[in-house]
Amino acid sequence: MRIARFVKDGQDPAYGIIELAVDGGEHPDTIAAITADPLAGVPVNYTGERHDLEDVRFLAPVIPRSKIVAVGKNYVDHAEEMGGEVPPAPLLFFKPNTSVIGPDDTILRPEGCTDLHYEGELAVVIGRICKQVPPERAHEVIFGYTIANDVTARDWQNSDGQWTRAKGADTFLPLGPWMNTHLTIEEAEKLGLETRLNDEVRQSSSTSQMVRGIAELISFITSFTTLLPGDVILTGTPAGVGAMQTGDQVTVEIEGLGALTNPVADA
Ligand code: MG
Repeated sequence: MRIARFVKDGQDPAYGIIELAVDGGEHPDTIAAITADPLAGVPVNYTGERHDLEDVRFLAPVIPRSKIVAVGKNYVDHAEEMGGEVPPAPLLFFKPNTSVIGPDDTILRPEGCTDLHYEGELAVVIGRICKQVPPERAHEVIFGYTIANDVTARDWQNSDGQWTRAKGADTFLPLGPWMNTHLTIEEAEKLGLETRLNDEVRQSSSTSQMVRGIAELISFITSFTTLLPGDVILTGTPAGVGAMQTGDQVTVEIEGLGALTNPVADA
């Protein structure tokens, strides 16, 4: 199931189930509105409203309830391009939920940042409160998957010594365009991932190249912190990260999860 958050005609944001037309079918791609946030723990029904996809604007499919936990250097080739190796234990950092933007929203380069990078990543959306999750039970706490761009002020990351400012600025986490709730962990760990800057391919890899898989990450993260429904885990980026300039357009595409495109501008 593909679940999106959207607005239509300036109305309040709503959630819906995307129904993609099969090739040659007579019906257009549509979104069927539902009554509530599927992560809110309340019963959800169809409202009966259905819209053509081209008539709605997608928002970030989830606003993380408490946090985004991200892992650094989880692809060997990216660790190498950063001048290092994959750390002996997962290297984690938080991004605040205020860094989240949706598809087509503008990534803003903060004043003083001179090296703004894209990082295309698979994002895992958590579905239930959890702590101390063993790897073999990680699938029970996953709600779905979406695409993330872990935008990074590379100059601040290098100069600050820790990553709060470099990773946490407003607009530094495009998410979307929807959540896919029907993938198994095994399926999510073999998806093609491509990042394009102005239609030029810059990252081309597969989630199969992650060093630490989704179950191991969830187990490690929940060994020290509680995850809440709607929290998001970023699983790391492959090689090919690079700078974005004002006027650029960046797209992260993951097989089965769609494409997430954002323009770039100065704040
Ligand atoms: Mg990253």
